[in-house]
Amino acid sequence: MAGLALGMMAFPTAVAQQHGGAAKASELDPQIVAAVKEISPAHLKALIEKLVSFYNRSTLSAADAASIANGRGIGAAREWIRSEFERYSKDCDGCLRIEMQKFTVSPPARRIPRATEIVNVVATLPGTDPANAARVYVVSGHYDSRNSDNDNVTDPAPGANDDASGTAVSLECARVLSQHKFPATIVFIAFAGEEQGLYGSAHYAEAAKAARLDIEAVLNNDIVGGNRTPGDRMQQPQWVRVFSEGIPAAATPDEIKRIRATGMENDSPSRQLARYVRQVAEQYVSGFEPKLVSRPDRYLRGGDHLSFNDQGFAAVRFTEYREDYNHQHQTPRIENGVEYGDLSKFVDFAYVANVARLNAATLASLASAPAPPANVRLVTRVLENDSTLTWSASPGGLATNYEVLWRPTTDTDWPPQNVEAVGNVTQATLRRSKDNVISAVRAVDAKGHRSVAVVPLPER
Ligand SMILES: [Zn+2]
Repeated sequence: MAGLALGMMAFPTAVAQQHGGAAKASELDPQIVAAVKEISPAHLKALIEKLVSFYNRSTLSAADAASIANGRGIGAAREWIRSEFERYSKDCDGCLRIEMQKFTVSPPARRIPRATEIVNVVATLPGTDPANAARVYVVSGHYDSRNSDNDNVTDPAPGANDDASGTAVSLECARVLSQHKFPATIVFIAFAGEEQGLYGSAHYAEAAKAARLDIEAVLNNDIVGGNRTPGDRMQQPQWVRVFSEGIPAAATPDEIKRIRATGMENDSPSRQLARYVRQVAEQYVSGFEPKLVSRPDRYLRGGDHLSFNDQGFAAVRFTEYREDYNHQHQTPRIENGVEYGDLSKFVDFAYVANVARLNAATLASLASAPAPPANVRLVTRVLENDSTLTWSASPGGLATNYEVLWRPTTDTDWPPQNVEAVGNVTQATLRRSKDNVISAVRAVDAKGHRSVAVVPLPER
C-alpha cells in the first residue's frame, strides 16, 4: 500500500484554483439557497417577543399547571416551544420527532436551591438516507433566562437577547429546514438550566455519548440579538463571533502529547467546524461574516457548547460581536438615566435573521454532504519530503471525490487556493513537506457538497 500512490498525482495548480476560491453560482445548492431565503426577521421577532411574554423564564420559576395556563414562567415557555415545534411538524406531514427530555436536579447542586425539574425541548428531523441518517447535526439555544439575582423568580427576566435570540434561531431553523429533505439528521434543541451551570446541555450531551449518538457538529447560539441600544456605535452588525476550542476538552493525556508533538493545537474538530461555518457564509450569506475566535468561549466564560466539547463532540458558539452588559442578567430598571434589562427593544431582528441564515445554511450543507473521510493518516514510515495521506472511504456512500487541503503552520485557516481534487481514491501524495504544512482531507459529492476537513493522525 505504502508505495502505491507515490508519484501518481501531479496536482496541477489550475485544478487547485478551480476548486478553491469563492463558490460560483453553479456550485450552490438551490435547496440551501431557498432555505436561507425563507428565514424571516418578522417571524424571529414574533418568537423572541413571545418568549419575553412569559415574564420570567428562570429554571427555578413556576412550572405548575396554573402558571402554565396563565402564560407565566418556564413551564409555560417550554409548553409553547413544544407547540411551536408541533406546528412546524404539522406543516411537513409530521416530519419532526418532538421530545421533552426531563430530569430532576436536587441540592446540593450549584445555584439549584431546591429539587428542580429541568426540561430540554428537542425536535428531530430524521435524515432521509438510511446510510446517512445516523449522522446528527445539532442547533441549540437556551430558553431559560435570569435577572440580576439567580434566585429571583418574581421580577421580570425577559432574556430577549440571552437567550430568546438563540432559542429563536433554533426554532426558525426547524421551521425552515423541515420544509426540505436531507440525507443526514438535524436536531433542534431549546435547553434549560444554562444559567445555573449548563445543566440541560450537560444532561443531553452525556446521554448522547452514552447512547453512542453520532453527533458530528453542534451550533450553539447564545446572545445573538445584536444591539440597538440608542447611541451604540460599537456593535458590528455584519459580524458574528464563532468560538471554538483549540485543545479538545475531552483529549486524553496521550492525545494531548500527540497534539503537542505534531503542532496540531489549532486543528481540533471544533475548529474545523468553525472554518466550515466561515466557508458556508462566503457561499450562502452575503454581507454577513463570522469572525472566528480561537478560544472555547468568551474569556473565562461558558455556554452549552462546552457540555458537548466535554463529551468529545465538535461544538462551536455563535455570539454577537460586542455584548452590552447593561442588557443581560439585569433586572429591568432605570438608574442614573441608564436603562438596564434584557429587553426586546434592544434586539436587532435583522441581525438575528443573518445569524439564523448562517446556521440554517451550515446545517443544510453539513446534512447534505458526505460523511467526512474516516481513519485519515499521514504516513511517516520513512523520512521523505512529500506528504502521503491515506483514509477510508467516506461512510454512507455519498462521496464521489476527495480534496486534499494544506496551509502553512502559521496560517489559521485553509487558504482557498490550497485545495487539490484528487479523485475517488483513498490515498494521495502532496508534494509538500509534512514538516512545513498542515494537511487535511475532505469528502465531496457529485453536486459539490463538502464534508468538514479532517486532519490526519500520524501513522508509523
Ligand atoms: Zn446565555
